Amino acid sequence: MRRHKMEWEEAAKEIFVKMPLQHENFFLDAKMAAEYLASKNGHKQVTIQDIEKVKGKYFIQVSETDQRKELEKRVAGDVNFFQRMEQSARRILDKDSELFQVETCYTCKNTLLSLSMLSKLKDEISSKFKELRVTERIYEKLPGERSRVLHNRINVALSGCQAGCSFPETKTFGVVLVSMPMVTDAVCSGCFDCVDACSQGAIVIRGGAPKINNDLCDHCGACVKACPTGTLESFRQGYRILVGGKLGRLHQRGFELYKMADRETLFKALEASVDFFLTRANGPKEFTALLRREGLSPIYQRIYQS
Ligand code: SF4
Ligand code: SF4
Ligand code: SF4
Repeated sequence: MRRHKMEWEEAAKEIFVKMPLQHENFFLDAKMAAEYLASKNGHKQVTIQDIEKVKGKYFIQVSETDQRKELEKRVAGDVNFFQRMEQSARRILDKDSELFQVETCYTCKNTLLSLSMLSKLKDEISSKFKELRVTERIYEKLPGERSRVLHNRINVALSGCQAGCSFPETKTFGVVLVSMPMVTDAVCSGCFDCVDACSQGAIVIRGGAPKINNDLCDHCGACVKACPTGTLESFRQGYRILVGGKLGRLHQRGFELYKMADRETLFKALEASVDFFLTRANGPKEFTALLRREGLSPIYQRIYQS
């Protein structure tokens, strides 16, 4: 069953927006923790008791009063700090929050997919996550009334080209648009623009035509864009898929699941990765650690069985 936007008692909202927190992500985390607690307790809306319990987790080592005093010292001179935080908290309350986040790069002219198509792909992936009940299933797995709910969020990044400006290699699931070049019959002018455009050193001009070293080529598509004669064209486009990327203490570059996959495989891979994540891991950190230990086989098996 689909989750609906959780309502809040007015009094609970007012307690929430006045919490002395120093970053809007803490508000988002507290909001999700309160909603998780409310749904676990069978409440139809977040109550004062729910938000007070979450506050108890936040201010366990330092009391709320001391935290406020400490924050006042730290932001001395910034007279609007608490007002800004309250506005952010109200905005966060108005949004439906999920335990997954799908981001795109800022989609400049280098993109291999138009801005609207990349946005559409983002929406389709978000819909898939909702269909798979990712938020609810993560909630169900949380070991207790955890205040750091956001640590369990699945992060997805889409990039319009291999430059990877949305950092897909550092996310739970990364998708990069790729394009495989091919040499056509159109006469090469010998301008060397493709050679200059190739950051991988994968092209040489021999006998008046380009030769591509497939071992070096990473399917960025830059040579095709650079070629003025149509000698180089895109043979096919697809998706490079990465899983288990992580920044921080357990730093890990995402494992490459596919160098170039089609759309059907992309969604199968997404579903298989989510299934592996939700059945075996508690949060992205454990997912990365599992992939380090077991490799990609558990995901490939799920893809082939689907
Ligand atoms: S990833 Fe590529 S398309 Fe996206 S913003 Fe960066 S350079 Fe542009
Ligand atoms: S697609 Fe990119 S890496 Fe491959 S040959 Fe062209 S420019 Fe080089
Ligand atoms: S960019 Fe095109 S025309 Fe110029 S050298 Fe490369 S293949 Fe030939």
